[in-house]
Amino acid sequence: MLQKEIINELVKIIGKENVITGREDLLCYSYDATPDVPDPLPDVVVTPSNTGQVSQLVKIARRFKVPLYPRGSGTNLSGGTVPLKGGIVLSLLKMADIVEVDAENLTATTQPGVIIQDLNNAVAPHGLLYPPDPGTVATATMGGSVAECSGGLRGLKYGVTKHYVMGLEVVLADGQVARFGGKTVKNVTALDMVKLFTGSEGTLGIITEIIVRLIPAPESRKTMFAAFNDLSDAGNAVISIVKNKVIPATLEIMDQVTIKTVENFSKIGLPTDARAILLIEVDGIPEVVEREADTVLEVIKNNNGKVQMARDDKERDGLWAARRTALPALAQVKPTTVLEDATVPRSKITEMLLALEEIARKYNLQIGTFGHAGDGNLHPTILTDERDKEEMERVHAAVKEIFEKALALGGTLSGEHGIGMAKSGFLEWELGAGGVGVLHKIKNALDPEGILNPGKMGFNGGTGHE
Ligand SMILES: Cc1cc2nc3c(=O)[nH]c(=O)nc-3n(C[C@H](O)[C@H](O)[C@H](O)COP(=O)(O)OP(=O)(O)OC[C@H]3O[C@@H](n4cnc5c(N)ncnc54)[C@H](O)[C@@H]3O)c2cc1C
Repeated sequence: MLQKEIINELVKIIGKENVITGREDLLCYSYDATPDVPDPLPDVVVTPSNTGQVSQLVKIARRFKVPLYPRGSGTNLSGGTVPLKGGIVLSLLKMADIVEVDAENLTATTQPGVIIQDLNNAVAPHGLLYPPDPGTVATATMGGSVAECSGGLRGLKYGVTKHYVMGLEVVLADGQVARFGGKTVKNVTALDMVKLFTGSEGTLGIITEIIVRLIPAPESRKTMFAAFNDLSDAGNAVISIVKNKVIPATLEIMDQVTIKTVENFSKIGLPTDARAILLIEVDGIPEVVEREADTVLEVIKNNNGKVQMARDDKERDGLWAARRTALPALAQVKPTTVLEDATVPRSKITEMLLALEEIARKYNLQIGTFGHAGDGNLHPTILTDERDKEEMERVHAAVKEIFEKALALGGTLSGEHGIGMAKSGFLEWELGAGGVGVLHKIKNALDPEGILNPGKMGFNGGTGHE
């Protein structure tokens, strides 16, 4: 437990009601959505309401050299919010104002605790859209998604969070408040600090305000699903759609393990004999959408797929419900769901899908794969039980091999879930000693005491299950 003196200092800044120390309450902040990582209790949770308070809280943490872990909704999948070394969890959920929607400049300014879907609800009446849409769009915060550089189902056409963040207010590890970027479309002043803090996973500063770019909401869309009897045909269709100059808003895949599990879970009529299905949505101006949908249909036919077009919004919603059910459905098969984030160049998607099947066979594991096939971002999901030590050894070996394979194919450790604790041990495989050294120099320059989110991204010790 933190010394009484430190708790008193925290209470002086934000009041007793915003300083949580009860054991039952602390338990809720000991873990996030990541399986198979430690879940230690923090000493205290603080819930500030404004940037000034965040700055003062950080100064206390620095003065007493206490670790501080920023936290949004705790939905991340890389152990990013686990209070590995005890100390203070800083919950940003009370800083939840949408400061401004600026329809003239196509920007919005939010506090970090705003839920992504709430921002989209606020900009929709202006005919605008904030495209990043992780599966947790209804629960994840803007701050957490910026710190994690989240992606989502629209990533292929619209990119990920870093493509929309234009400006940030950040509380640095010494409590100073810094602002970078702004509303101008062009901004090349000095180093690109907005990009540096986007995806920094709470290790370099606390994000307290965010300016994001909005886009005009697409006028029209067409949604379809295609079933394939052969995994290679599905992978080749993905490659071929883009080769034919169509960039769908969404191009998702589910393998047979996932199809069967989802169907068993939600009974929506998915073809359980198919080896894979693709879910495709094209959007934009109506005439272009028509033409692109025709091209997609043609490509699917040429790759031996059977296609079904959603006839109305109800059918479309049914298809997306199926996709969004993939993880919850897989998660109910076994007690532990190890969800990975291996990402390869699109041209290697077939090879990666086949490799995942082979890895499942080799280690005698049940792996369901779904994900954002159009951008090469696959989520192989290992269904297991943390209590089964022998099986967990096979799981860890399989995870290693999945990342070895992804990197060998020119891919990356993370398309969207970040590094956190879970993948810090693999960082050098992708970045080399030189690259990892640069990360450490930046960390040491911005947080020399190592108080911000220690144990994540390989900083200040502590690794996950690797
Ligand atoms: C079922 C499911 C589906 C998912 N689907 C996707 C998906 O499609 N795409 C995707 O990218 N992710 C996905 N995720 C992962 C997760 O939802 C996203 O990363 C999400 O954006 C995290 O937001 P959060 O508010 O929960 O952040 P948290 O989990 O609370 O925090 C994430 C990281 O950001 C840091 N942080 C939080 N707030 C701040 C702040 N204000 N300043 C500095 N650092 C901060 C934390 O320390 C932590 O390192 C999914 C997760 C689940 C459980």
